[in-house]
Amino acid sequence: MSGSIDILHLYPRDMNIYGDLGNILVLKRRLEWHGYDVNVIGYNPGDAFPVHADIIVGGGGQDSGQDIVAGDLHAIGPRLQKLAAGGTPMLMICGLYQLLGKFFKTQDGHVIKGIGLLDIQTYAGPERLIGNTIVESPEFGQIIGYENHSGQTFLGEGMTPLGSVVRGAGNNGQDGLEGARYHNVIGSYLHGSLLPKNPAIADFLIEQAVTRKYGEFTPTVIDDAFALEARKIAAKRPR
Ligand code: GLN
Repeated sequence: MSGSIDILHLYPRDMNIYGDLGNILVLKRRLEWHGYDVNVIGYNPGDAFPVHADIIVGGGGQDSGQDIVAGDLHAIGPRLQKLAAGGTPMLMICGLYQLLGKFFKTQDGHVIKGIGLLDIQTYAGPERLIGNTIVESPEFGQIIGYENHSGQTFLGEGMTPLGSVVRGAGNNGQDGLEGARYHNVIGSYLHGSLLPKNPAIADFLIEQAVTRKYGEFTPTVIDDAFALEARKIAAKRPR
C-alpha cells in the first residue's frame, strides 16, 4: 500500500438519496485500485468532528433532511471553510451543495441558512426539475447524471460553474449553468450516483487528496470499460 486516505461522509443518515452513497463506494474502490488504504468516516449531527479528513463528500436529501442537519452544519461550517480554503477536495451533491451556499428558501417559504462557503443562493421553484442530465465541463469533459430538485440555484458574481448544461435543467433551468467550483470543492445537482459514470471527477478528487497528503500521485491504469458503457447508455436515455 502507498498510504491511507480518510474519506469523511457528511450526514449519511439524513442526506443520502438517489444513489449518492455510490460516490463513496467509487472513491473507496478506485483509491484501493490506485494502491491506497481507505478509511470511511460517517459523520452525523452531534458526532465528534474527525481530527483529519482527506476527502469530504456529502449528498442530497429532502427539505426535511436539510432542516435536520442545518444546525450541525453551521457548527462545523468554520472547519469546512478552513479545509476548503486549504485545498481539501470536496464533492457536495444537491441538498448539501445548496447548504454549502448562502441559503435555500423552500417551497413552503422558510429559509434554511447555509454556511456560505459557496457564493450561491437557492430558491424553490414552482416545479421540480427532474431527469437525466448531461453537462459539458471544461475540466472533466462530458458529465452524465440525474437531477431531482425543487431548488433553483444562482451563482454569485465571480463564482465558477462546474459546467454548461447540454441536456436538463442544471442549477436553475434558466442560465444554462450547472454546479459550482471553488478551490477543490465541486458542488453539483447530479445524482445517479455521479462518480460511477464520471471517473474523471473521482480521480480528480483522489489526485488532489493524495497529492496534498503525500506530495505526489502516481495513478494506476484502471479499466473503465463498464463506466464507459454506463455513460453511453445513460446518455441515450430520455430526459
Ligand atoms: N430538497 C432539495 C430540493 O428539492 C434538495 C433535493 C435533493 O437533494 N435531491 O431542491
